[in-house]
Amino acid sequence: MSDALLPRGTDAGTPASDGSAKNRTSGPDTRATEPNPAPAGPSPRFWETKALRDMTDAEWESLCDHCGKCCLHKLQHEETGEIFYTNVACHLLDLKTGQCSDYANRWKTVPDCIKLTADKLETIAWLPSTCAYRLLADGNPLPPWHPLETGTQRSVRKAKVSVRGRTISEHDAGPLDEHIVNWDDL
Ligand code: SF4
Repeated sequence: MSDALLPRGTDAGTPASDGSAKNRTSGPDTRATEPNPAPAGPSPRFWETKALRDMTDAEWESLCDHCGKCCLHKLQHEETGEIFYTNVACHLLDLKTGQCSDYANRWKTVPDCIKLTADKLETIAWLPSTCAYRLLADGNPLPPWHPLETGTQRSVRKAKVSVRGRTISEHDAGPLDEHIVNWDDL
Protein backbone atom coordinates (compact mmCIF):
# COMPACT_ATOMS: atom_id res chain seq x y z
CA MET A 1 0.00 0.00 0.00
CA SER A 2 1.18 3.49 -0.77
CA ASP A 3 2.51 5.34 2.25
CA ALA A 4 0.23 8.25 1.47
CA LEU A 5 -3.00 6.28 1.35
CA LEU A 6 -4.72 5.27 4.54
CA PRO A 7 -7.80 3.15 4.95
CA ARG A 8 -10.52 5.67 5.48
CA GLY A 9 -11.35 5.66 9.16
CA THR A 10 -9.02 2.94 10.29
CA ASP A 11 -5.44 4.08 10.32
CA ALA A 12 -6.58 7.67 10.37
CA GLY A 13 -7.59 7.04 13.95
CA THR A 14 -10.66 9.21 14.00
CA PRO A 15 -13.06 8.25 16.78
CA ALA A 16 -15.74 5.84 15.72
CA SER A 17 -18.54 7.93 17.08
CA ASP A 18 -18.32 10.96 14.83
CA GLY A 19 -19.08 9.14 11.60
CA SER A 20 -16.52 11.18 9.70
CA ALA A 21 -13.85 8.62 9.29
CA LYS A 22 -15.43 5.32 8.60
CA ASN A 23 -14.89 3.39 5.45
CA ARG A 24 -18.31 1.82 5.43
CA THR A 25 -21.76 2.87 6.35
CA SER A 26 -25.03 1.11 6.47
CA GLY A 27 -27.42 3.65 7.86
CA PRO A 28 -30.35 2.69 5.73
CA ASP A 29 -31.24 -0.93 5.26
CA THR A 30 -29.25 -1.98 2.19
CA ARG A 31 -31.04 -5.29 1.84
CA ALA A 32 -32.99 -5.69 -1.31
CA THR A 33 -36.53 -4.47 -1.18
CA GLU A 34 -38.69 -4.81 -4.22
CA PRO A 35 -40.08 -2.32 -4.75
CA ASN A 36 -38.71 0.36 -2.46
CA PRO A 37 -42.01 1.96 -1.54
CA ALA A 38 -42.70 5.45 -0.37
CA PRO A 39 -43.83 5.31 3.22
CA ALA A 40 -47.49 5.16 3.97
CA GLY A 41 -48.95 8.40 5.25
CA PRO A 42 -49.86 11.85 4.18
CA SER A 43 -46.51 12.98 2.83
CA PRO A 44 -46.36 12.35 -0.91
CA ARG A 45 -43.01 13.40 -2.33
CA PHE A 46 -41.88 14.11 1.20
CA TRP A 47 -38.29 14.33 0.04
CA GLU A 48 -39.14 17.57 -1.75
CA THR A 49 -40.81 19.20 1.21
CA LYS A 50 -39.25 17.84 4.40
CA ALA A 51 -35.86 18.48 5.89
CA LEU A 52 -33.83 15.32 6.34
CA ARG A 53 -33.87 15.59 10.10
CA ASP A 54 -37.67 15.93 10.13
CA MET A 55 -38.32 12.72 8.23
CA THR A 56 -39.90 9.72 9.85
CA ASP A 57 -37.83 6.56 10.13
CA ALA A 58 -39.76 5.03 7.25
CA GLU A 59 -39.21 8.08 5.06
CA TRP A 60 -35.53 8.15 5.94
CA GLU A 61 -35.06 4.48 5.14
CA SER A 62 -36.88 4.77 1.85
CA LEU A 63 -34.36 7.32 0.61
CA CYS A 64 -31.71 4.62 0.31
CA ASP A 65 -31.56 3.33 -3.25
CA HIS A 66 -29.60 0.24 -2.11
CA CYS A 67 -26.74 0.93 -4.47
CA GLY A 68 -24.27 -0.62 -2.02
CA LYS A 69 -21.50 1.90 -2.65
CA CYS A 70 -21.20 2.86 0.98
CA CYS A 71 -20.21 -0.75 1.70
CA LEU A 72 -17.01 -0.35 -0.31
CA HIS A 73 -13.63 0.32 1.25
CA LYS A 74 -12.18 3.73 0.69
CA LEU A 75 -8.71 5.15 1.08
CA GLN A 76 -7.80 8.64 2.10
CA HIS A 77 -4.63 10.46 1.07
CA GLU A 78 -2.98 11.32 4.32
CA GLU A 79 -1.74 14.71 3.09
CA THR A 80 -4.48 15.97 0.78
CA GLY A 81 -7.42 14.25 2.42
CA GLU A 82 -8.63 13.11 -0.99
CA ILE A 83 -10.87 10.06 -0.90
CA PHE A 84 -10.36 7.15 -3.26
CA TYR A 85 -13.00 4.50 -3.71
CA THR A 86 -12.03 0.89 -4.22
CA ASN A 87 -14.08 -1.96 -5.61
CA VAL A 88 -13.39 -3.94 -2.43
CA ALA A 89 -16.56 -4.70 -0.53
CA CYS A 90 -17.28 -5.44 3.09
CA HIS A 91 -17.40 -9.19 3.54
CA LEU A 92 -21.08 -8.95 4.40
CA LEU A 93 -22.00 -7.50 1.03
CA ASP A 94 -23.58 -10.04 -1.29
CA LEU A 95 -21.56 -9.42 -4.43
CA LYS A 96 -24.28 -10.68 -6.72
CA THR A 97 -27.09 -8.54 -5.36
CA GLY A 98 -25.11 -5.60 -3.97
CA GLN A 99 -27.02 -5.89 -0.70
CA CYS A 100 -25.92 -6.50 2.88
CA SER A 101 -26.29 -10.20 3.63
CA ASP A 102 -26.75 -9.80 7.38
CA TYR A 103 -28.07 -6.32 7.92
CA ALA A 104 -29.80 -7.01 11.23
CA ASN A 105 -26.68 -8.46 12.85
CA ARG A 106 -23.99 -6.58 10.96
CA TRP A 107 -22.43 -4.95 14.00
CA LYS A 108 -21.51 -8.34 15.42
CA THR A 109 -18.94 -8.83 12.69
CA VAL A 110 -18.50 -5.28 11.38
CA PRO A 111 -18.47 -3.12 14.50
CA ASP A 112 -17.32 -0.02 12.57
CA CYS A 113 -20.35 -0.05 10.28
CA ILE A 114 -21.98 3.36 10.56
CA LYS A 115 -25.65 4.05 11.02
CA LEU A 116 -26.25 7.06 8.84
CA THR A 117 -28.16 9.94 10.45
CA ALA A 118 -28.91 13.53 9.52
CA ASP A 119 -26.27 14.72 11.99
CA LYS A 120 -23.61 12.41 10.59
CA LEU A 121 -24.35 13.59 7.06
CA GLU A 122 -22.76 16.90 8.01
CA THR A 123 -19.44 15.23 8.74
CA ILE A 124 -19.28 12.42 6.19
CA ALA A 125 -17.66 13.62 2.99
CA TRP A 126 -17.35 10.35 1.15
CA LEU A 127 -20.88 9.33 0.25
CA PRO A 128 -21.11 8.80 -3.51
CA SER A 129 -22.50 11.51 -5.73
CA THR A 130 -25.58 9.42 -6.49
CA CYS A 131 -26.50 8.86 -2.83
CA ALA A 132 -29.93 10.28 -2.06
CA TYR A 133 -28.82 11.47 1.36
CA ARG A 134 -25.94 13.39 -0.10
CA LEU A 135 -28.07 14.79 -2.93
CA LEU A 136 -30.79 16.05 -0.63
CA ALA A 137 -28.31 17.38 1.92
CA ASP A 138 -26.73 19.39 -0.89
CA GLY A 139 -30.10 20.75 -2.04
CA ASN A 140 -30.33 18.59 -5.15
CA PRO A 141 -33.30 16.54 -6.41
CA LEU A 142 -33.43 12.78 -6.52
CA PRO A 143 -32.35 11.32 -9.86
CA PRO A 144 -35.10 10.06 -12.18
CA TRP A 145 -34.02 6.44 -11.64
CA HIS A 146 -34.45 6.60 -7.87
CA PRO A 147 -36.95 4.01 -6.59
CA LEU A 148 -39.07 6.73 -5.02
CA GLU A 149 -39.49 8.21 -8.48
CA THR A 150 -39.91 4.99 -10.41
CA GLY A 151 -41.63 2.79 -7.83
CA THR A 152 -39.22 -0.06 -8.44
CA GLN A 153 -35.74 -1.06 -7.31
CA ARG A 154 -35.05 -2.35 -10.80
CA SER A 155 -34.48 1.17 -12.03
CA VAL A 156 -31.32 1.38 -9.92
CA ARG A 157 -29.87 -1.62 -11.67
CA LYS A 158 -30.97 -0.38 -15.08
CA ALA A 159 -29.24 2.93 -14.43
CA LYS A 160 -26.08 0.95 -13.60
CA VAL A 161 -25.53 2.67 -10.29
CA SER A 162 -25.61 -0.48 -8.17
CA VAL A 163 -22.31 -2.10 -7.18
CA ARG A 164 -23.55 -5.56 -7.95
CA GLY A 165 -21.26 -7.41 -10.29
CA ARG A 166 -18.52 -4.80 -9.91
CA THR A 167 -16.89 -5.67 -6.61
CA ILE A 168 -14.55 -8.12 -4.92
CA SER A 169 -14.75 -9.26 -1.31
CA GLU A 170 -12.29 -7.91 1.21
CA HIS A 171 -11.42 -11.54 1.93
CA ASP A 172 -10.04 -11.97 -1.59
CA ALA A 173 -8.81 -8.53 -2.59
CA GLY A 174 -5.35 -8.14 -1.11
CA PRO A 175 -3.88 -4.60 -0.91
CA LEU A 176 -6.61 -1.99 -1.19
CA ASP A 177 -4.54 0.43 -3.24
CA GLU A 178 -4.51 -2.10 -6.06
CA HIS A 179 -8.27 -1.79 -6.31
CA ILE A 180 -8.86 1.93 -6.63
CA VAL A 181 -11.68 2.67 -9.07
CA ASN A 182 -12.90 5.81 -10.77
CA TRP A 183 -16.46 4.91 -11.67
CA ASP A 184 -18.57 7.67 -13.17
CA ASP A 185 -21.24 7.09 -10.55
CA LEU A 186 -19.04 7.64 -7.52
S1 SF4 B 1 -24.54 5.06 -0.87
FE1 SF4 B 1 -26.41 6.05 -0.09
S2 SF4 B 1 -28.08 5.28 -1.43
FE2 SF4 B 1 -26.28 3.92 -1.73
S3 SF4 B 1 -26.62 2.20 -0.29
FE3 SF4 B 1 -25.34 3.75 0.75
S4 SF4 B 1 -26.80 5.05 1.90
FE4 SF4 B 1 -27.97 3.90 0.37
